[in-house]
Amino acid sequence: ATFSSLGITKDYIQAIKELGISTPSEIQEKAIPILLDSPTDFIGLAQTGTGKTAAFGLPILHHIDASSDNIQALILSPTRELVQQIKKQLFKFTKFSEDKIFVEAVFGGEKIDRQMNNLKRTTHIVVATPGRLIDLIERGNIDISHVKTVVLDEADEMLSMGFKQDLNRILKFTTEGDRKTWLFSATMPEEIKRIVKTYMDANAPRVE
Ligand code: AMP
Repeated sequence: ATFSSLGITKDYIQAIKELGISTPSEIQEKAIPILLDSPTDFIGLAQTGTGKTAAFGLPILHHIDASSDNIQALILSPTRELVQQIKKQLFKFTKFSEDKIFVEAVFGGEKIDRQMNNLKRTTHIVVATPGRLIDLIERGNIDISHVKTVVLDEADEMLSMGFKQDLNRILKFTTEGDRKTWLFSATMPEEIKRIVKTYMDANAPRVE
């Protein structure tokens, strides 16, 4: 397969080519057509280094309505390093896009004031660690009511880092209505299965 045959538009193909991404990896080949299609919950069993950031990131970018200034997608990841990496990758993916898509990263360990100020600007995609996101929600500094897609990246890691309660709070809110959850995890322990069962469609496509 090619990225073009999977449905990726040429601006993104040009951008990822510059990053050395020209042939889809296995997870990309399986996930991208599903995630570009009609809204759906999704489960991807994938390790790090398999190209899962592009597997969810490119479809997320395709779905953003840049003419709106609402936060439309939320990507949760376990550490500040991963959050910053994902933000950086998404930014590079948009290098040749006509639409201006704005991505912000929020994570613990950095002054919250700066992140609060950044969020006052137009933001379409927020990449966050769960704890800091809860902080910002509680302070009323982030409006996630327009979010259509929530990505749980390295879900098993987030749980083992103690984010279970934060994740449940976020998911309780973001799975209301027709909002969709894309869960990526290297392993499927009981706690992950419980999250899938509680918040996700029983018929959600699953790839590995
Ligand atoms: P990830 O698993 O998303 O953290 O990606 C790991 C690394 O692989 C990143 O540096 C990506 O730029 C790179 N990468 C992702 N997809 C591909 C691909 N299809 N071909 C070559 N490199 C890729």
